[in-house]
Amino acid sequence: MKRKKLKKRNILILILIIFLIGFIIMNNKPSTKDKRLKELNNIDQKIDYFNYKNINRYIKYKKKHKNLSNKQVIIDVNIGIDKKYYTNTKKSKYLNTNKVLVNKYNYLGKNYIPNNLENINIKYARKGMKLVKEARIAFEKMAKDAKKDGYNIIAMSSYRSYKYQVDLYNKYKKKDGKEAADTYSARPGYSEHQTGLATDIYNGKTDFNNFEKTKEFKWMQKNAHKYGFILRFPKDKVKQTGYQYESWHYRYVGKKASKYIKKHKLCFEEYYIKKIEEY
Ligand SMILES: [Zn+2]
Repeated sequence: MKRKKLKKRNILILILIIFLIGFIIMNNKPSTKDKRLKELNNIDQKIDYFNYKNINRYIKYKKKHKNLSNKQVIIDVNIGIDKKYYTNTKKSKYLNTNKVLVNKYNYLGKNYIPNNLENINIKYARKGMKLVKEARIAFEKMAKDAKKDGYNIIAMSSYRSYKYQVDLYNKYKKKDGKEAADTYSARPGYSEHQTGLATDIYNGKTDFNNFEKTKEFKWMQKNAHKYGFILRFPKDKVKQTGYQYESWHYRYVGKKASKYIKKHKLCFEEYYIKKIEEY
């Protein structure tokens, strides 16, 4: 009787042990998710902007661009540059704020008109140029301070309506063809000028295409970020912004963002992925 009881207990313990071993093995077996992560060779889920939804795209992009850092792979894919321009597009978020991102993947659409558009003082702009209030104030302060040092910062094209961009884009398309026009002009609804936060500038005499050669450009390089402005399409970020280098196009993002962008040598897309977009 006693023996039987003992046997029964042993069997129970044995079952328990087998169950436990099984449980441990099951838990250590890599899941499909882990396997996919391993394919990325150490892309770290701890990166804030790592988005598991994009994992297959990260893997594909990494294979194509082996010398990029893992962080850059994640940033580039999150921006969307693994897909063709004007495909995979979505409506811009954070409208009527300094955080809004408008590029070849994020659009405002034809009905968007920002709040608080105001004329820029004609001391610092061509007639009828508008920016949203906060950007207008910052721009005038910047241009005023530049003027004190003997530099002419003039806004030559600022807020542009959807309709204006339709006409502009069509003109370029007719002249150079769609493919070429797409490299230097935004399609209607995709122009940052429609946010009222961007402006093209020149010094009042030199053609804006040659702004880079002027002393005003050098002043802007040194000072724009102190007023909340950034050079929006830098030379070394053509891939990320989707635009050729433009020494004349500046975007208001607010001082905190502009200082960070300047310090870390980012473009606005990269800043947006790191600091604004939520995952
Ligand atoms: Zn521009």
